[in-house]
Amino acid sequence: MNSIGTRTVSEAESPASDATLRVLLVEDSPADAELVLRELRQEGFDVSSDIVQTVEDFTRQVRANPYQVILADYNLPQWRGIETLDVLRRENLDIPLILVSGSLGDVAAVECIKQGATDYVLKDSLARLTISVRRALQEKRQRDQRHQAEEDLARKVEELARSNRDLEQFAHVASHDLQEPLRMVASYTQLLAERYRGKLDDTADKYIGYAVEGALRMQTLVRDLLAFSRVGHNGVAGKHTDCNSVIREALLNLKALIEDSGAVVTHDPLPNVAAERTQLLQVFQNLIGNAVKFRSKEAPAIRVSAEQQGTHWLFAVADNGIGIAPQYKDLIFVIFQRLHAREEYSGNGVGLAICKKIVEHFGGRIWVESDPGHGSIFRFTLPASPADEKVNRGHVQP
Ligand code: ADP
Repeated sequence: MNSIGTRTVSEAESPASDATLRVLLVEDSPADAELVLRELRQEGFDVSSDIVQTVEDFTRQVRANPYQVILADYNLPQWRGIETLDVLRRENLDIPLILVSGSLGDVAAVECIKQGATDYVLKDSLARLTISVRRALQEKRQRDQRHQAEEDLARKVEELARSNRDLEQFAHVASHDLQEPLRMVASYTQLLAERYRGKLDDTADKYIGYAVEGALRMQTLVRDLLAFSRVGHNGVAGKHTDCNSVIREALLNLKALIEDSGAVVTHDPLPNVAAERTQLLQVFQNLIGNAVKFRSKEAPAIRVSAEQQGTHWLFAVADNGIGIAPQYKDLIFVIFQRLHAREEYSGNGVGLAICKKIVEHFGGRIWVESDPGHGSIFRFTLPASPADEKVNRGHVQP
């Protein structure tokens, strides 16, 4: 039997039209090949086919032609049809392979499917062939669509990441470069206020006062924006941080605020997490600071707790403050978004945006649950430290 691919239908080299089915037959019997082709044509396929008998010809043909289906005899004198799968894998080609065999026991058939063949058809039941080919084509179409959708999604994710990086860089550069001219404006308006207060008229004093206030406020905004844009740049995941020492430091930093408000802050023994210490400090400090700041008429009672959930820890900072209406649950995590006038509660609306950025940077999530008028629970997750073992449970005062 010669091993040269035999062309049975003309124009096999030109691209097949949609209606043409491009088939590669791996078959050493011309009569069997003819039977197979006749079966397909009888069922309405416009077939364009090539026949090969050796692995070399097979490889050459699949490289050169966009076949839609391969019909391979299971047992050829020189090699087995199932070995075509090795070639397809090597060539990185996804073409459905249907084994067409004179006799293929159930065990061998199952083994072939396991290895990646789409289907098998016995030569004495060729009527099944067209059903099998149609199904193979449909499955391949679905695979292609899925693949395309995955590629589109990956491209969109990459575009989004790039545009986020650009935005972040813009925020960083803008806030960094704005600091210097702003410092000039703030210091000279302050100087103006000191030197000329009472020397011009009342209106001038009022205007200078507004200018000083505006410049100082803008300085705070720019400083906070810079802090926000820096999150994630100086901390990598995989760190081993003890949250007990972080919360101790946060409470020390908030000492004056806590004492002035008469707040009582308690916490569970806390775990170690895979997050960077200074960034974690910002999270605890912002959340506890807010819990004190947005207090109700009662003295603030704040509780920090943590429970393990698989590979993560779920933290909760619960307060008995003013609470948050459900429609603002997402908005409050957006930078510069606040729910109150500055005269009512101080702040820029950056704290929670920073918390969200930090938590997400370390692979966690943050959200709020609240009963308006009765308090809020800010929850966030962080990955457990790989080196972390058991945490002593119990309740202690800080
Ligand atoms: P800021 O505290 O500077 O206003 P944040 O980003 O920390 O900014 O918070 C955004 C808004 O979310 C706050 O203005 C407030 O309305 C609301 N908020 C945050 N924490 C609490 C809390 N514990 N209880 C009630 N409201 C809160």
